[in-house]
Amino acid sequence: MDSELLTHARNAIGFMPEAEGLALYEAGSASAGRGPLLEVGTYCGKSAIYLGAAARRGNSVLYTVDHHHGSLENQVGWEHHDQRLVDPETGHLDTLPWFRRTIASAGLEDCVVAVIGSSTTVAAHWQTPLALLFIDGGHAYEVAQSDYESWSPKVMAEGLLLFHDVFENPEDGGQAPFMVYKQAVEDGWRPVSETGSLRVLRKAAN
Ligand code: SAH
Ligand code: MG
Repeated sequence: MDSELLTHARNAIGFMPEAEGLALYEAGSASAGRGPLLEVGTYCGKSAIYLGAAARRGNSVLYTVDHHHGSLENQVGWEHHDQRLVDPETGHLDTLPWFRRTIASAGLEDCVVAVIGSSTTVAAHWQTPLALLFIDGGHAYEVAQSDYESWSPKVMAEGLLLFHDVFENPEDGGQAPFMVYKQAVEDGWRPVSETGSLRVLRKAAN
């Protein structure tokens, strides 16, 4: 991956260890020639740099979906709260300005497109087939499950589905993404690779 972009990814606020980010970049690079990439869960744009770098290399685009008000675990008093991300005027979390700065300073505005809204609302009207879908939105079971149910049918044949924060051992983290990952395997998605808590699956050919 381009070393300047890697530096931007390292400096961005977010929850994407470098090895997993590079695995995102690999999967993205393998997919970008087939169509657009889509991420659920933008936050401040850290993972979007890795996928955006892949989109740029493959003359594709990354759509990244988020309402930008944070997940439950990002709210005041929760484990993953970051006071810098609170809008002083509303008192609510607003990661959109941070995302804009991240992507603008990385120079990726031509291939990373923010879609601002609730994941299931956007999915309900989304028609474009996806070469790669990365699910890293809300980690409550109902949220992760509905992201999978509503977005995975949009992936093209032999396209990739990626989940983040998959922990097989409850001591390492919440179990919702792991449960949804297992359901995807049961549904016929074929496991391709694992890097840290990142899982890559491939859709069957038609
Ligand atoms: N991929 C990011 C981290 C995402 S954190 C990175 O690696 O840096 C999860 C994000 O999902 C939060 O920004 C939160 O606002 C968003 N989110 C949670 N539930 C959502 C929903 N139902 N619709 C849209 N976005 C949601
Ligand atoms: Mg994550």
